[in-house]
Amino acid sequence: MPVSDQAFVTLATNDVYCQGALVLGQSLRDHRATRRLVVLVTPQVSNLLRVILSRVFDEIIEVNLIDSVDYIHLAFLKRPELGVTLTKLHCWTLTHYSKCVFLDADTLVLSNIDELFSRRELSAAPDPGWPDCFNSGVFVFQPSLETHGLLLQHATDHGSFDGADQGLLNSFFSNWSTADIQKHLPFIYNLSSNTAYTYSPAFKQFGSSAKVVHFLGSSKPWNYKYDPQTGSVLEEGSGSVSQHQTSFLNLWWGIYHRSILPLYENIRHEDEQT
Ligand code: UDP
Ligand code: MN
Repeated sequence: MPVSDQAFVTLATNDVYCQGALVLGQSLRDHRATRRLVVLVTPQVSNLLRVILSRVFDEIIEVNLIDSVDYIHLAFLKRPELGVTLTKLHCWTLTHYSKCVFLDADTLVLSNIDELFSRRELSAAPDPGWPDCFNSGVFVFQPSLETHGLLLQHATDHGSFDGADQGLLNSFFSNWSTADIQKHLPFIYNLSSNTAYTYSPAFKQFGSSAKVVHFLGSSKPWNYKYDPQTGSVLEEGSGSVSQHQTSFLNLWWGIYHRSILPLYENIRHEDEQT
């Protein structure tokens, strides 16, 4: 029985990140997610991508921070560098849902993760670079205009120690690392594809139970070239891509080829018929 007052939420501020959102959304569908799929977009996202997103997501919500309510406008004027950060915070305004799971557009779901909805705000997995901080690529939250306002206030008053949403969210939910172990999601819900390598025996032991992979860092799956004939990404130059990272990249591209590219084709045919 689908639960309609809970949702998986992601964000794309441009057509490039939409490619990630599409694969993420499709991966949730492939694993029979029982909650609504929501994508937040900004005005920069093209009409074509909105149409394609609508084939995968239940709801596309445009967030236009610059001309939304006054207090956001104010936050922007004082801290223009926090642009994308403040956009992510907009997920707290989805008050037609009682609880949501936010996933970065550069994540990929490998199995059903509906059980995350039994967790409370703010649940997240440790950041591989500094495990007393949580990584903000995957988190459970409860939409609330009050919390949203407090977060923006926090942003204007204190900024963000890393210039992004993760620093801000960690200083706002500052007792995450000590207060409640239930709010520590297992690492398998936000497995960084590139850092698992630093503790490879653990990866050998636990990697196969990964449920969400996060392609964090500067090289995103859509930056690679893919050969559909061999079903694998082409490794040019970089050289440092590990075996398991390659297999996650291949998974991402497999979904892109099998399920996302055909959507573009379908829309082209529909256009030709009208
Ligand atoms: N994002 C976006 N447009 C951007 C940058 C980021 O839509 O230009 C969104 C997207 O959902 C992305 C998230 O913000 O997954 C966090 O950024 P990113 O994943 O690039 O950061 P990382 O996880 O590598 O630190
Ligand atoms: Mn990310």
